Amino acid sequence: MEILRSPREIAEMRKAGLLVWEALEQAASLIQPGISTAEIDAEIDRFFAAHGAVPLFKGVPGPVPFPASSCISVNDQVVHGIPGPRKLVEGDIISIDTGCKLNGWCGDAAATYAVGRIHPEVRRLLEVTRSVLDLAIRLMAKCTRWSQVAYEMEAYVKKNRFSVVEAFVGHGIGREMHEDPQVPNFVSSQLRRSGDFALVPGLVIAVEPMVNMGTKRVRTQPDRWTQATADGRASAHFEHTVAMTESGPSVLTAGPNGETW
Ligand code: MG
Repeated sequence: MEILRSPREIAEMRKAGLLVWEALEQAASLIQPGISTAEIDAEIDRFFAAHGAVPLFKGVPGPVPFPASSCISVNDQVVHGIPGPRKLVEGDIISIDTGCKLNGWCGDAAATYAVGRIHPEVRRLLEVTRSVLDLAIRLMAKCTRWSQVAYEMEAYVKKNRFSVVEAFVGHGIGREMHEDPQVPNFVSSQLRRSGDFALVPGLVIAVEPMVNMGTKRVRTQPDRWTQATADGRASAHFEHTVAMTESGPSVLTAGPNGETW
């Protein structure tokens, strides 16, 4: 069962969310050919430490505990990429996903960035993925149940001739990074069975569409964390932590003036 948060608790989560936004802005400012993904992660780690926040991703249990403060996934990598010595080159796309806990409250967000000039079809992939997140947030204002939003997200991506990743979904978030409910970006069987939930004030969820240029299928890379597309084509990922309030959805990981990329 999802836990509903009070306006005061949501205000606390906004502080964590703003820090996540700022960490991503800081990381994005470093993106250029020649920088390694480990260097970008180090900046995020430093930023959280400097602001008294705990990086949420470090130590997440898995095949091995996740070793970094961000997941950095390049080109055909979908999510859960481990930062390392790989250097970015012109034409790459880089997805940075990070989260922190501040005063006991969590925030989680992700975005995909271009490294210099990228192929126009890859540019379109980034725009469609960012747009489907925007669409979901707008729909949260008028839909009553998540399944209605998920249906429209899936339809939007299909209309644009890309595919929604089904192996990973968004999640409730609050005291912990991953709480109930599951938040799929498509109408999953779990959603149809029993997983649908009402969009009511106090609900706080991480909405995170992952969109592939080709097949929706993913495979695990040898490091046992990184997920890549099965066909080697590009993938993009955008995420915000969003709270339902009496006056509609509020993006907790937006910038200081409410900007969302
Ligand atoms: Mg997330």
